[in-house]
Amino acid sequence: MPRTPLGMSSNASSAYDQWRAKARAVRIEDEIERRGIPLKRVGSERIGPCPKCGGDDRFSINTSKQVFNCRGCGARGDVIDLVMFLDSVGFRGRSRLKAIRYSVTSSGA
Ligand SMILES: [Zn+2]
Repeated sequence: MPRTPLGMSSNASSAYDQWRAKARAVRIEDEIERRGIPLKRVGSERIGPCPKCGGDDRFSINTSKQVFNCRGCGARGDVIDLVMFLDSVGFRGRSRLKAIRYSVTSSGA
């Protein structure tokens, strides 16, 4: 199934295609491991808390199908979708953490 983002120019899509080809060569479990996300191995699946919405076992990847799925926030897709999902989570998580830390240090003492 072709995945063509709407409204993308041909120039932009060739860079996107290169990135996508590179990203698709990465195994979904390697990407999870690289980011230090702890998942339990259950058969061909790995299950654990969702990086975005938490929980215990709502987030799972399937290493034979190379897809992921979250029952909590409904995120799902292939390794490309996973990278975009994790990047958006990490971004927000990091800046939120920074904001919390800043407010703690500035209001404390
Ligand atoms: Zn989730």
